[in-house]
Amino acid sequence: MINTSCDIAIIGGGPVGASLALALRDSGLDVCVLEARKPESAPADPRALALSYGSRLLLERIGVWDAIPQVTGIRTIHISQKQALGRAVLEAHELSVPELGYVLPYPALQGALQHALEASNITYLTGATVTQLSSEADAARISFRHDSVEQTLNARLAVVADGGKLLENLHPPKITDYGQSAIIAHITCASPRPGTAFERFTGQGPVALLPYNDGYELVWTASHETAQEMLRWDEAAFLEQLHLHFGDRVGEFLSVGARTCFPLRLRRAPQITLPHTVLLGNAAQTLHPVAGQGFNMGLRDAWELAQEILRCEPQALGSEPTLAAYRSSRRLDRNAGIRFTDSLVRVFSNDLPGLSAGRAAALSLLDCMPLAKKFVAKRMMFGANG
Ligand SMILES: Cc1cc2nc3c(=O)[nH]c(=O)nc-3n(C[C@H](O)[C@H](O)[C@H](O)COP(=O)(O)OP(=O)(O)OC[C@H]3O[C@@H](n4cnc5c(N)ncnc54)[C@H](O)[C@@H]3O)c2cc1C
Repeated sequence: MINTSCDIAIIGGGPVGASLALALRDSGLDVCVLEARKPESAPADPRALALSYGSRLLLERIGVWDAIPQVTGIRTIHISQKQALGRAVLEAHELSVPELGYVLPYPALQGALQHALEASNITYLTGATVTQLSSEADAARISFRHDSVEQTLNARLAVVADGGKLLENLHPPKITDYGQSAIIAHITCASPRPGTAFERFTGQGPVALLPYNDGYELVWTASHETAQEMLRWDEAAFLEQLHLHFGDRVGEFLSVGARTCFPLRLRRAPQITLPHTVLLGNAAQTLHPVAGQGFNMGLRDAWELAQEILRCEPQALGSEPTLAAYRSSRRLDRNAGIRFTDSLVRVFSNDLPGLSAGRAAALSLLDCMPLAKKFVAKRMMFGANG
């Protein structure tokens, strides 16, 4: 049983909700995290995440970076397109950072955040599924089920970080369906290039190889139908098709682990605040993984919201001026990140005549213009707010 009221209730203790809670742990505020999963019973999420260098700095500030096991650094990003000229290479040393980013399993990040939450003074309730949220003029009222018992909680600020389900009927999101799914799997190959990530654009969607341990985390996009077929291919056929699709940059592909399919779309909440309520991370925007921006942007949402909360007068928590300040602080970065990811998918996922030459020119220009490279890499590492 928990108190029936708190200052801040965070709905969803996934990577974004948990990061917000930890950023507030020394605030003196009464923060409660309601997480539907029970850690011991939840199946491990098979996703690998590419985190930017900027996200590493934020995770250091909230005190969890050093506790994340199994992290592989990215020092080079190689960008190319299939059956066409033009490529660009981003190098960490050209941008004066030790690494451009990092690859890590979602469960490793989640585990480190969860341990930090358990060791903190924050109320962290697992197996607590929120069933209703009503954003009212004086407070947010939350109904949730915990151990088969229905409970209610009033919060001066409710933060929805549930990935997007809770409010989707009441406030339908704007959805752009790209008609693509991603197959993800761990692969090994004959000539891995440690520390190098590959992003290759093809007519059926991007394919990314993210360096991890002895091989790569593969993110291979294709139409929904093709992706379902790819799940059925035997290992030899899968590796052969991957070689044909990706080319020879890392030699023969030798093995592929369990394959999982994720349908991809852009999903934007119509508004990111409601009275006494903020939507964060995937609940606010779910992005195509092409540029690996989803969690990175969600973490910046969490960090900026924490700064607004810490800045505001105690009695102003959840008030419209505080929510307006948060909206304003996120406008540029959020809109730019959504536009950047959406344009990449649209411009680079088709074989329209003429576009291939234009893309080749754009990649070659990017490659030989240090200032443009710095601009793109900085945006990817730190977002539009810098
Ligand atoms: C194939 C793929 C690859 C990706 N690769 C990258 C990448 O390389 N880099 C990157 O930055 N991003 C990447 N992303 C995006 C990234 O996974 C998401 O942006 C990130 O997981 C969002 O975190 P979140 O905490 O907002 O939501 P989630 O991860 O969805 O977490 C939501 C949490 O809320 C809980 N919850 C749900 N409903 C309720 C409820 N009713 N009550 C209580 N709790 C609830 C869930 O159990 C969960 O723990 C990728 C996504 C996909 C699909």
